Amino acid sequence: MPRKKIPVPVPPASKWCHQCQQVRPIQMFGQDRSKKDGMHYCCLRCADDKDRQRAARGAEFSRLACRSVFHA
Ligand SMILES: [Zn+2]
Repeated sequence: MPRKKIPVPVPPASKWCHQCQQVRPIQMFGQDRSKKDGMHYCCLRCADDKDRQRAARGAEFSRLACRSVFHA
């Protein structure tokens, strides 16, 4: 996969968030040891949003699963 080009200069102690497409201070990023720079690719706010979306989907899934059990 080609590396995505960051469209703006990133100042020191900052990082480009690939999710919200903005430069954020490095404190806004969580740690991810599996990444080369040891930081998460998106900022905490985006990671948070994703967690919430995943949680919402999970809730939806279990509701559907629940329904199919009760109406089987
Ligand atoms: Zn972000």
